[in-house]
Amino acid sequence: MRIIAHVDMDAFYASVEARHNPALRDRPVVVGADPKDGRGRGVVEAASYAARRYGIRSAMPISRAWKLAEAARRRGEPAVAFVHGNRKLYVEVSERVMAILASAGDAFEEASIDEAYVDFSSLGDFEAACERANALKREIAEREGLTCSVGLGPNKLVAKIASDFKKPDGLTLVRPEDVQAFLDPLGIRVIPGIGPKTEAELNARGIRIVRDLRALERGQLAEWFGRWGEDLHAKARGLSDSPVSNEWEPKSVGEQETFEVNTLDAAFITERVRALAGEVFARVGRQGFRAFRTVTVTVRFAHFRTVTRAHTTREAMTSEAALAAAAVELLQPFLDQRENPRGTKIRLIGVRAEKLLR
Ligand SMILES: [Mg+2]
Repeated sequence: MRIIAHVDMDAFYASVEARHNPALRDRPVVVGADPKDGRGRGVVEAASYAARRYGIRSAMPISRAWKLAEAARRRGEPAVAFVHGNRKLYVEVSERVMAILASAGDAFEEASIDEAYVDFSSLGDFEAACERANALKREIAEREGLTCSVGLGPNKLVAKIASDFKKPDGLTLVRPEDVQAFLDPLGIRVIPGIGPKTEAELNARGIRIVRDLRALERGQLAEWFGRWGEDLHAKARGLSDSPVSNEWEPKSVGEQETFEVNTLDAAFITERVRALAGEVFARVGRQGFRAFRTVTVTVRFAHFRTVTRAHTTREAMTSEAALAAAAVELLQPFLDQRENPRGTKIRLIGVRAEKLLR
């Protein structure tokens, strides 16, 4: 029997800020762009749970977050602290948390800066796994002053959905015999890979919860979605045999961002490309690579046409500055006549590092 834990840090960036800056401790915290009294551009990177009570969410325009914060302040609620992200600090804290988790089970997989899977199968039963998970939660709280939410299940898919079930500071156990009863009433968005677009398509066909999805024949899903439809058929049943492993060798590391509003604002887009390059470079390092030779950018226009451009150098690139510069240069033609003669607004950008070197 497999026993897998998914550990997800709660409001990670905002919690780290509150922990390392005592002045923020009792205030709602928003990490992101400078709100400039409501005139700022850019987005919320993370919001603490107290800030989420005001309706503030990550990826929301910072100007909207500012308005929500002001409305709360006028109601007499605590004022939001807006802080600029300190990625170096988040990476340091993440590395310490991951070190605690890495030695806690039979296998470990870092899924992102604030999420990891741990394989507890050799503990033999779910009671022992719960105890181990609680011990880990205590250790992370004592050493780092941070809470996390843990999902325990028979595979990575169920564990991941379970960790999100009760937040913050939750522990959700889903035994193999309870998987279907756990998943069935949940909205289809809990299934990894179902984003807003697939959700809307399925909703339009009357499919809203996992039970509705499970009622569909495999052939029907394959007809609608191809290979991905067959995956959906398995996922609706909580089936997954993906191993907990960091041994998988990534061929590339990339990040993308969909803008809240389609735009052709060159300063804003350039700033977001640089921010994405920073995130990509941090992940390249965390995956154990020191350099890369190819930089790729993706541009999706308002009407959904998607274009990628790549640049490969003979010399290895080893810095965030090199990645950012290459990405900005590749993107530049899409902001002017060269690749965008009609001045079509842009919906999404992506930055990727490839040909990774150890
Ligand atoms: Mg998290």
